[in-house]
Amino acid sequence: MKRTTGTDRSITRTWRPATQAVRAGTWRSEQGETSEAIFMTSGFTFDSAATVAARFAGEEQGMTYSRLQNPTVAMLEERIALMDGAEACRVQATGMAAMTTALLCQLSQGDHVVAARAAFGSCRWLVDQLFPRFGIESTTIDARDNAQWEAAIRPNTKVFFFETPANPTMDIVDLQFVCDLARRHGITTVVDNAFCTSALQRPIEFGADVVAYSATKLMDGQGRVLAGAVTGSADFINNVLLPFQRNTGPNLSPFNAWVVLKGLETLDLRVKRQSENALKVGQFLEGRVPKINHPGLASHPQHELAAKQMDACGSIFSFEVEDRAQAFALLDALTLIDISNNIGDSRSLMCHNASTTHYSVSAEARAEMGVTDGMLRLNVGLEDPQDLIEDLDQALRQAGL
Ligand SMILES: *Cc1c(COP(=O)(O)O)cnc(C)c1O
Repeated sequence: MKRTTGTDRSITRTWRPATQAVRAGTWRSEQGETSEAIFMTSGFTFDSAATVAARFAGEEQGMTYSRLQNPTVAMLEERIALMDGAEACRVQATGMAAMTTALLCQLSQGDHVVAARAAFGSCRWLVDQLFPRFGIESTTIDARDNAQWEAAIRPNTKVFFFETPANPTMDIVDLQFVCDLARRHGITTVVDNAFCTSALQRPIEFGADVVAYSATKLMDGQGRVLAGAVTGSADFINNVLLPFQRNTGPNLSPFNAWVVLKGLETLDLRVKRQSENALKVGQFLEGRVPKINHPGLASHPQHELAAKQMDACGSIFSFEVEDRAQAFALLDALTLIDISNNIGDSRSLMCHNASTTHYSVSAEARAEMGVTDGMLRLNVGLEDPQDLIEDLDQALRQAGL
C-alpha cells in the first residue's frame, strides 16, 4: 500500500471539509487505483512468524485480522475523524452498534447516565431496558431545558447522552451549555449526530467528547447499507473504545465501509440541497397542518439555537395531524414520497413514528417525549421540491386537510 497526501495528517488537517470528504484517508495499492480498493478479506498472511508476532505486540504497524483492522475500513475511519475535527474514529456495523459501543465501553455497574428523553426508539431502549440489567442508573430529562441537565447530575454521573436535533421531535440541545457543564463535572458527553453529520454540525467544536453516528442515514445517504461510527480523542478511541470493540466485534464490513466512503464524497452537496428542499417543503406545510416541528422555520421554539449550532436545517422534520387515522390516510395517499422509516436518503420518505421507529418505546415514554399518535416524520430527498409539494398537497386534501 502506498500512502497518498490523504494519509498525512500534517496535510489533511489543513484541508477544508469538502476536500477531506473526497480525499482524506486514501491509501493506494501498487495498482494506483483512483477509487479506494475494497479489501474483502477476513484475514492476512505474513512473511514470517516474527512479523505477525510484532504486529500483535503493537511493535509493528500492519494488518492482522479484519476484526482488529482492515485497510478499507481504516480509510473510512480516517476520513470521518478528519471531517468531524476529531483525533480518531472507529466504525461499526450499524448506528445502534455505534451507540451501544460508545456507551458500554465506558460504563460499569453503579455509574449514572443523564439522557435526553426525546431520542431514537432504540437509543431510549438502551437507557430504559438495557442499562438496568447491568446496574447502570439513568435519569431522562427534557434536554431542551439547561437547568434539568444541571439538576440531574449525581456524584456517580459518568455520561451525558443526547441527540440534537432529536428523532423525531426535533428538540434541540444547547451543545455549548451542555458540553461546558459536563466538562466542569468530569462527565463524558456522547452526542448522537445522525441528523446532521459533520456537514451541518460539529459537536467537537462545542466541546463534545464523543460523537456517534448512524452512517446508514446521511453519510451513505442513498439507502444502501447499514453503518455506524464513533469519533473522539485518540485516548478515548484507542484506550477505552477499541479494547471493547476488538473483543466484542460489532465491526463494519469492508464492502459497506466502501459504500459509505463513496457516500461521503457527495455528503456536502446532498445535505445542503436536501436542507434547501426541506425548508421549501416545510414552508409549504406550515399553516396547512396543525403543528410543524422544523428547526429551519422561525416557528420552531429553538430556531435561533438551531441556527447558531447548525449550518443548515437538515433534511428531516416532523409535523402533526389530528390522530393516527388521519396520519395513516395521509401516508396512504402519497404517490411520490415513499412510506419508509429510513431517513437521510436521497429519496423523500415519510413515516408514522409511534407505530414504527418508536414502537419499542412505552406509550408513557412516547407521550412524555412528545411522539404523538398524529406525528409524521418526513425526510426530504433530492427530488424537485415542487413535485414533493404537489404530492403532499393532494395527499393532504385526501386526508381532509
Ligand atoms: C437511525 C438512528 C439510529 C440507529 O442507526 P441504525 O444505523 O439504524 O442502527 C440511532 N440514532 C438516530 C438518531 C437515528 O436516527
